[in-house]
Amino acid sequence: MSWNQRITSALQQRRDQDLWRTRRTLGSSQGVDIVVDGQSLLNFCSNDYLGLASQGGDDLAAAAQQWASGSGASHLVCGHSQAHHDLEDALAEHTGYPRALLFSTGYMANVGAISALAQRGDRVLQDKLNHASLLDGAILSRADLKRYRHADCDHLKQLLRSEHKGETLIVSDSIFSMDGDLADVPQLAAISKAHDALLMIDDAHGFGVLGDHGCGVTKASGLTPGDVPVYVGTLGKALGGYGAFVAGSEDLIDYLTQFARSYIYTTAMPAAVAQGMLGNFERLQDNRLRDALNQHIAHFRAGARERNLPLMPSDSPVQPLLIGDSGRAQALSQALYQRGIWVSAIRPPTVPQGSARLRITLTSAHTTEQIDRLLDALADLIQEQAV
Ligand SMILES: *Cc1c(COP(=O)(O)O)cnc(C)c1O
Repeated sequence: MSWNQRITSALQQRRDQDLWRTRRTLGSSQGVDIVVDGQSLLNFCSNDYLGLASQGGDDLAAAAQQWASGSGASHLVCGHSQAHHDLEDALAEHTGYPRALLFSTGYMANVGAISALAQRGDRVLQDKLNHASLLDGAILSRADLKRYRHADCDHLKQLLRSEHKGETLIVSDSIFSMDGDLADVPQLAAISKAHDALLMIDDAHGFGVLGDHGCGVTKASGLTPGDVPVYVGTLGKALGGYGAFVAGSEDLIDYLTQFARSYIYTTAMPAAVAQGMLGNFERLQDNRLRDALNQHIAHFRAGARERNLPLMPSDSPVQPLLIGDSGRAQALSQALYQRGIWVSAIRPPTVPQGSARLRITLTSAHTTEQIDRLLDALADLIQEQAV
């Protein structure tokens, strides 16, 4: 097959399977009320769980006045600034770890950490529903990648019992990005210890959301850095910014600084961005934001139950409704859009075949009235089988 044929047939297949992905272009800053193509929309699909993406503009502007645009080079050459350093210290302290290392994105943090830690002959055991970046890191490492059934610790133990010579790395999301449920991190920690495996937890959706002041899953579960030795947090979700970090021991961070290729061979994020994050980092610690968020989650779930909507077992701000068929999920998303509500339809390959869903995300910045408006529209469309 020629390149042209491969490309056109892959595109045609995506269309035929109702898996075509499109982008909509925002004309306003991220938030609950946004403007898309001149139309006002109520947004229920961002990961901006604390409503911080629309804040901190003044902090960024002030940081840009000081640091201007570019960092000029990678961290190890001459791109590492006091602003990056201060943010790393603040993140380590907040999550309860000795040190933290900033990466430009969560994707790069995961790929870099796993591919630096695991090597040929090792094995990486991952939850079946882990984020794509975790799987990609394992593939890049050339270690043996095995996936255990979602949240199934017995299956994980079964995999661990099979003969293996190299080291073992166990990797899981904390809050699963497309399902919203929370991994049993204490049990994963116990299993890892019992089998001399290293545990890495991707807390992309838990940092800022879980625990007092949003400290993340380790402290929130009553665990220590010894229990969860490799912790990943992102700054693009609850913090409302951009970037990510790995937290761990002095040695782990030194090791990643030396060997994580997605840390070494890339330009450091602009110092202004790092410094600009510090304002939102202060805001994130206000527990009133999490109280409001948790009230919204409870309100949404109670309302969805009353209306018989296909809820999934999630206590987090990620509240998917399981639809199944990709075409129907897409049609529901479009019908909501026509009513001024934006909820994205998540389809394979992001989720397993036959499990297309509406991925609703709640933020502390929503109001009860807005959530009721969503619930009523969903009930209309799903229960009335209008779509
Ligand atoms: C979003 C996400 C990432 C990637 O983080 P970015 O900073 O957006 O690159 C990694 N892991 C999980 C579980 C995520 O949901």
